[in-house]
Amino acid sequence: MTAAVSSHSCAPGMLNGEPTAGQVTMNSLPQPRSAAAAGVVTAAVILQNRRGMERKAFGRTGVVASVIGQGTWHMGESPREREREVAALSLGLDLGLTHIDTAEMYGNGGAEEVVADTIRGRRRADLFLVSKVLPQNASYRGTIRAAEQSLRRLRTDYLDLYLLHWPGKYPIADTMSAMESLVAAGKIRFVGVSNFDVNDLGAAIAVLKRERLACNQVLYNLATRSIERDLIPWCRQQGIAVVGYTPLDGFPRPGSEGLKLLTEIGTRYGKTPRQVALRFLTRAEIAFTIPKASNPEHVRENAGACGFALTQEDVAAIDAAFPAPRGPLPLAMG
Ligand code: NAP
Repeated sequence: MTAAVSSHSCAPGMLNGEPTAGQVTMNSLPQPRSAAAAGVVTAAVILQNRRGMERKAFGRTGVVASVIGQGTWHMGESPREREREVAALSLGLDLGLTHIDTAEMYGNGGAEEVVADTIRGRRRADLFLVSKVLPQNASYRGTIRAAEQSLRRLRTDYLDLYLLHWPGKYPIADTMSAMESLVAAGKIRFVGVSNFDVNDLGAAIAVLKRERLACNQVLYNLATRSIERDLIPWCRQQGIAVVGYTPLDGFPRPGSEGLKLLTEIGTRYGKTPRQVALRFLTRAEIAFTIPKASNPEHVRENAGACGFALTQEDVAAIDAAFPAPRGPLPLAMG
C-alpha cells in the first residue's frame, strides 16, 4: 500500500480515501493486567505503508498518521546544524515517519524553516504536518496571524493539525474560534491542543462550534505515565488522538533492572530497548509518539519501533518495572 494522506475527508470504510478492506491488519494489542494501565489498550487498526511504517486512525479525524512521528524541538537554532537536521528529517520521511511535529516556538520559527527545507519537492499529501501557536499569541487575531506566519515559514498552504501549545491567558473560546476560522479558510485541517488536562479539554470542547477537537499532545514516557489514569481513557472515549512528547526521557540507565527488562523483551523480537519503549508508549489505539532525532542512527532506530506487538506478559512486566502513579497527579509538562 502506498503512503497517501491525500483526501481531506473520507468515505465510510476508507481511511484517507484508501480502501482498507484486505489491506489492514488488526493488531491484537494485549490488555494489560494492572489497574494503572487498564483502559489504555484496545485493538487498533494498523495500516502499513511499503516501508513497513505503521499508520493508524488519528482519533476520529478520518485520516491516518504515522504512529511514530518526528519532533523538531531545538532544531533550527543553529545554521551550522541545518544540513544535518534536514538530512535527519528527510531520512525519517524516507522511512515513513511522515507525521512531523513543529511549533512557532522552536528555534523561534527556525524549526519550521528546517521542516520547509525537508519537505521541499515532496508530495504534500503524503505528510501529516503539525504546528503550534504560543499561548501568548493565542488571541483570536493573534492565532490567525501566527498560523499564517507558520505557513509562510513552512512554505506550505495548509497545516494538517494546529495546536494551542499550552493553556494561557487568552479565553479558550477566542483561540478555538480562530482555529475554526482557519479550518473554514482551508489553512488548517484539524484543531488541537497540547498540555491540556481533562478539565481544560472539556472547556475547549465546550466552545468549539463546528469542529471536533482532534488531538491533545502531552508528555508521555516510561517515567511519566500519569496520563494513563484519566487522560488516555477520557480521550479515547471522545475520539481524541493523544500524541506523546519527550518519549525518550526517563529512559533507564545502563546496568539498571529496567534496561535489562527492555533488552530481554527486545531480544525476542529483534528490537532494541528504545524500540520496545516506543512500542509500549503507542500501545493505546489513540496513542502516537514523536521522538526528535538529529542523528541518523537514532532516526533509523525510532523508525524500527513498529512491526511487532508486545504480549500481555511483556506489557505487564514493563508496567511493573516503570510503574504509573497510583493516585491522580496534575498533568506533567516537559
Ligand atoms: P525526545 O524526543 O524524548 O528526546 C530527544 C533526544 O533523544 C535528542 O537528544 C535525541 O538525540 C535523542 N534520541 C532520539 N532518538 C534516540 C535514540 N533512538 N537513541 C538515543 N537517543 C535518541 O525529546 P523531545 O525533543 O523533548 O520530544 C520530542 C518532540 O516532542 C519535540 O522535539 C517536540 O516536537 C515535541 N515536544 C512538544 C512539547 C509540547 O509542549 N507540546 C514539549 C516538548 C516536546 P539526537 O537529536 O542527537 O538524535
